[in-house]
Amino acid sequence: MSDTEKNLQAKVNISVPDEAIPVHREIVKRLKLLEGGNFNSCLDSGFISLLNGVYELFQIFQKTVLEKSSINCCCSVSCAMCCNHWVEDVNSFEAEIIADYIRKNRPRDIEKIINTCMDDCKELERLDNLVQNQLSLIDQKKERIDEIDLLLSVYYQMKRPCPLLDHNSRCSVYPVRPFTCRIYVNLSDPSGCSPEYINDGEVNTYLLDLEENANEILDRLHFRFMKYEGDTGLRSLLPKYLEGPRN
Ligand code: SF4
Ligand code: SF4
Repeated sequence: MSDTEKNLQAKVNISVPDEAIPVHREIVKRLKLLEGGNFNSCLDSGFISLLNGVYELFQIFQKTVLEKSSINCCCSVSCAMCCNHWVEDVNSFEAEIIADYIRKNRPRDIEKIINTCMDDCKELERLDNLVQNQLSLIDQKKERIDEIDLLLSVYYQMKRPCPLLDHNSRCSVYPVRPFTCRIYVNLSDPSGCSPEYINDGEVNTYLLDLEENANEILDRLHFRFMKYEGDTGLRSLLPKYLEGPRN
């Protein structure tokens, strides 16, 4: 999230209306079932079924919050400019489930997806070196610049579409896309999501997320199923899950 987006997040601060509270409560109930369940793997059918239920409820939650707040969201399945972002904060179980979905639904594309992910990782590394060099020339006492924020903003402007977009620029893993993609919404005009506007103060992108108690359970589930410590990037995790040992 850029500084501009963080500012908007602080400015808009959409509260959860009464009508959405029971939906959120049901989400937490199902997340607790996921947490308490005796699942050996996040690829267990019971785990996936419960998680799919959470995803469906989350969609209802977001819709209810926006409707009751009289806010229009202009996102749609056919809109994909935001998919140029470096997707970070993916839960371990989400990455593993996405990899499994790709194996089952796009087996012929696996090599291409892995190669694109790895190219994108190299590009991020290249940009990271550039950003660090530039920051070393600036007096950080005078000008506080968030290194990660700058790196992600620069990466977005390179216009490198997510390797999971299909030839129609649609998310090929839409039913199992991670929370981090689901929470990113635009409250005004899709054209504002174009990478060149990443630092434009008028762009109304917003993170419409779950409440803290739900995210805490998701964090615990992330650590429980984690196989690659410290890695939460979609493009860095997918090659590992697609090439690694299969359950
Ligand atoms: S965030 Fe922007 S680019 Fe992404 S789906 Fe919404 S309107 Fe489209
Ligand atoms: S996983 Fe899907 S929604 Fe998320 S960035 Fe990639 S293509 Fe877009």
